[in-house]
Amino acid sequence: MATPRKPKLAVWKFSSCDGCQLSLLDCEDELLDLAGELEISNFPEASRALVKGPYDLSLVEGSITTPNDAERIHQVRRASKFLVTIGACATAGGIQALRNFKDVKEFISIVYATPAYISTLGKSTPIADHVRVDFELRGCPINKHQLVEVISAFLHGRKPNTPAHSVCVECKRRGTVCVMVAHGTPCLGPVTHAGCGAICPSYSRGCYGCFGPMETPNTKSLSAWWLGLGVQGQDLLRVFRSFNAYAEPFRKESDRHEN
Ligand code: SF4
Ligand code: SF4
Repeated sequence: MATPRKPKLAVWKFSSCDGCQLSLLDCEDELLDLAGELEISNFPEASRALVKGPYDLSLVEGSITTPNDAERIHQVRRASKFLVTIGACATAGGIQALRNFKDVKEFISIVYATPAYISTLGKSTPIADHVRVDFELRGCPINKHQLVEVISAFLHGRKPNTPAHSVCVECKRRGTVCVMVAHGTPCLGPVTHAGCGAICPSYSRGCYGCFGPMETPNTKSLSAWWLGLGVQGQDLLRVFRSFNAYAEPFRKESDRHEN
């Protein structure tokens, strides 16, 4: 009897730092099991051996920042049965989306010795702005256990079981004392998507919002809390403009503090 074909996995990089792809390589205990279930067909970060598509599952890291990216993502979509975006760059434009609030030509003239060689778009945008995306996994970087859950869900034909609630719920679950209530430390946890396990509050620091906005974030109310703690409007603008600056709820809230 013929052995059934293993589903083909491809990992693609766009504009990014590679940190989310490294989360896959970081799945040390699970990687062999994954390799047993999937044919890792295209993963240049890990191997030069490339198998031609089409692919059953594509993991896409990075945002669209160049004309070439904008073309290539359509090729990736056409070659992929399921396409999952991984990380803040791919799901929200990433830290490089800070350019979206300014004129990118100004940066180019300051940063590069020969600006004429630079081919770039005016904005850094998430993958979902360009092609259909089957699932978005958030974080900067993503949580490796959530990544294994997403791949496992794909293999079993079910929806990934990743929480939609805020970091506050993770705090409560691990029994961490709230740094905002107990110490007046500003924290983005109430508006931030769970996934990190509330690491920063467990070290007595406020959340930085790495996982982006949760499902129903009340950013206006949180800003009012922060102002009550003595935080200035300019600082609120700065905290909402970080890894997930171009995610709509964070973008709108930062815009409110622009002047
Ligand atoms: S989301 Fe963060 S860790 Fe992942 S590629 Fe982008 S910058 Fe790197
Ligand atoms: S420390 Fe931050 S994330 Fe944790 S419960 Fe308090 S506000 Fe929420």
